[in-house]
Amino acid sequence: MIDFSLSSELADLRDRTAAFVRDGVIPHEREVDAHGELPAETLAALRAQAREAGLYAPHVQKEWGGLGLDMRAISIVFEEAGYSLLGPLALNCSAPDEGNMHLLELVATEAQKEKYLRPLVAGTIRSCFSMTEPPPGAGADASMLRTRAERRGDRWVINGDKWYITGADGAAFTICMALTGDPKSAGQSGGRARHATMFLVDAGTPGYRVVRRIPSLDSGAPGGHCAVEFRDCEVGDEAVLGAVGEGFAYAQLRLAPARLTHCMRWLGAARRALDVAADYANTRESFGQPLGRHQMAQAMLADSAIEIQAARLLIWHAAWMLDTGADARHETSMAKVFVAETVNRVIDRALQLTGSHGVSDELPLAALYRNARPFRIYDGPSEVHRIVIARNVLKAAAIASAERHVHSAEGGEA
Ligand SMILES: Cc1cc2nc3c(=O)[nH]c(=O)nc-3n(C[C@H](O)[C@H](O)[C@H](O)COP(=O)(O)OP(=O)(O)OC[C@H]3O[C@@H](n4cnc5c(N)ncnc54)[C@H](O)[C@@H]3O)c2cc1C
Repeated sequence: MIDFSLSSELADLRDRTAAFVRDGVIPHEREVDAHGELPAETLAALRAQAREAGLYAPHVQKEWGGLGLDMRAISIVFEEAGYSLLGPLALNCSAPDEGNMHLLELVATEAQKEKYLRPLVAGTIRSCFSMTEPPPGAGADASMLRTRAERRGDRWVINGDKWYITGADGAAFTICMALTGDPKSAGQSGGRARHATMFLVDAGTPGYRVVRRIPSLDSGAPGGHCAVEFRDCEVGDEAVLGAVGEGFAYAQLRLAPARLTHCMRWLGAARRALDVAADYANTRESFGQPLGRHQMAQAMLADSAIEIQAARLLIWHAAWMLDTGADARHETSMAKVFVAETVNRVIDRALQLTGSHGVSDELPLAALYRNARPFRIYDGPSEVHRIVIARNVLKAAAIASAERHVHSAEGGEA
């Protein structure tokens, strides 16, 4: 049975999150600096209020200081948090920390959880995730990974370059993805089967360095997007996250839910854009009547409302799949493509409807526009997700066709 009703506890949590974002967070949006960052003391105060209000770290298990929600409940709360670009930061559920917390909860040792997860959830440290590399390394195609960790004695020595690593400047540690297989046994094409491992590398480890912040269209991620390097960076076995050789499997473990939680937060941003556009359309007059009475304006508002609801349903379904224990790669890929493109369309329409005011920083739309655009690229560009989805569609069709042949052959024999 399909039931979209929320429990009274979850509806209450949703409403309290919405009120906190509206009354407690949005008034601070004007305090962000040129990098889109909030003053540290404001962020600390917001997090204290979120904690006090019982809204903090909704995605983390209770024993580590969170609310212990499942993915379906998270989708309700994250949408409300995403209504402001600062909401997820205030609740300590923004990327990349949120995805890292999830991965640490799943595969870290107890000692690693105490060292990294506990302070991350407490908000006393930040983290980053180092996967993407400059050409010819890993990008949309993760199997092009080149960063390598070699075994020397009882140590691992990491060498490689990464870039667009969100939050690296000021992060207390990074999760670094590196090849650990025997280079001689890697296939000619260096395919996905190659052996990779994730390492927890502390800031300050000799050989690990944040090279620079890379200026970009978006802002608002504490620590920016950075180029980082690993040069004979030595770590011990205690730095291995999970099992050696499981890096690509863990990347999926991290990315499938993480791409969906991105969708949840951005859905809130799309709703904000629609609300701003609708307010403007109700009050601004043109050609003798409010903008909202003109049918072309109405069509924009209606299309945005329809697409937001469709996006929400894709998220909820994929969240339910994840809650059942399914890997939900197909479903999270479909949600990622649709939500990323919907959010950009909705914000673009809102900006068009609000005219010059929409382009200015008087309204939140310009910031949303700048920050939402990269979502069509990170956590898998739309094109790559479409490839995965199409592959599944083709495979399903081939299986169905083979089954039809078997049935008709059996029918023929009878
Ligand atoms: C704001 C932002 C934050 C990021 N944060 C992080 C981070 O914290 N950690 C991290 O490791 N990485 C991060 N990234 C990097 C992100 O994961 C990569 O941008 C993404 O994986 C794509 O890799 P690439 O940029 O190298 O694109 P490329 O691999 O160079 O691809 C360029 C474009 O080609 C197209 N394309 C690629 N393959 C195909 C294909 N088969 N068919 C058709 N078109 C194709 C896509 O449109 C793609 O956008 C971030 C990126 C951005 C923009």
